[in-house]
Amino acid sequence: MQVPAPFEYQRVSSVGQAIVLLDRLGDTARLVAGGHSLIPMMKLRLANFEYLIDINDLHDELGYIVTEPRQIRIGAMTRHRELLESDALAEAFPIFRDAERVIADPVVRNRGTLGGSLCQADPSEDLSAVCTTLGASCVIRGLDGERVVPMEDFHRGPYETAVGDAEILTEVRFPIRPNGSSAYEKVERRAGDWAVVSAGVAVWLDGGVVADARVGLAAVGPNTAGIPGIAEALRGEPPSEELYARAGDIAKDACDPVTDRRGSAEYKRHLARELTIRALRRSVARINGQGA
Ligand SMILES: Cc1cc2nc3c(=O)[nH]c(=O)nc-3n(C[C@H](O)[C@H](O)[C@H](O)COP(=O)(O)OP(=O)(O)OC[C@H]3O[C@@H](n4cnc5c(N)ncnc54)[C@H](O)[C@@H]3O)c2cc1C
Repeated sequence: MQVPAPFEYQRVSSVGQAIVLLDRLGDTARLVAGGHSLIPMMKLRLANFEYLIDINDLHDELGYIVTEPRQIRIGAMTRHRELLESDALAEAFPIFRDAERVIADPVVRNRGTLGGSLCQADPSEDLSAVCTTLGASCVIRGLDGERVVPMEDFHRGPYETAVGDAEILTEVRFPIRPNGSSAYEKVERRAGDWAVVSAGVAVWLDGGVVADARVGLAAVGPNTAGIPGIAEALRGEPPSEELYARAGDIAKDACDPVTDRRGSAEYKRHLARELTIRALRRSVARINGQGA
């Protein structure tokens, strides 16, 4: 199948209007942001919806990157290209530019959004791994107002999120902590492809030892869940190759990949270990001013 089943289409001009429509139409309706995940699924008849509510006119309202002293707030309609090109974002969280450089191609990056990436909840979604790594929080708005959900609770399983039928993800918040940095590593079969495996790492140092560390792996489990055991193992230890290897071993044991056309489960475990080590090494080098 190369065309979707027939559907009704409505553009909205405010978040409030989108929520009212979603409330009226229930689970027969879906929001369409960049459309780069939803429309292919509808063309393949893996998803069928009677109504599509187009939120692209909300880019003025929901397309922003705001730096505050203690957090960065990013609107859900912010596109991949805007995330890639933001110097302020790259300075605070270099992991974003690392990841965006290897997400799809310019055509997809011109349209695809942060909100669509998180709400698609594909286990291979790179931005989900980035948000997990950075300990982000998701702002969800509905008829009764806003609620804030941590990344750990946002994904409920593959293609399932905490966003209800009459709700919209409006913003993602990233806490800024001192003396930290981050990096992203991905292995793909060819440029612009989905990950075979990817690993995000954020690490913070204090007095020459690891104060905290977070890891987000994509494509090796039902969601891009973090690995709290790595923080426990690294805290209080000075960075070293032995420590990176220990973190890699934990990542390898914690993940749950399946064998598919992208590779065997054994190969993906090997990648989870190796990419965690590389991203950790690069994050620490960045804190020490050793650049890219
Ligand atoms: C050829 C190709 C290659 C790709 N390669 C990669 C890759 O390497 N890595 C990667 O991570 N991704 C990749 N993608 C996916 C791409 O990043 C998409 O842009 C992204 O997954 C979805 O964003 P979107 O804005 O297009 O969402 P859409 O397709 O518009 O929506 C996806 C889902 O999210 C819901 N949704 C959207 N916005 C909201 C919101 N604000 N609130 C609530 N629900 C919402 C929609 O209803 C829908 O269910 C690729 C896509 C293509 C077509």
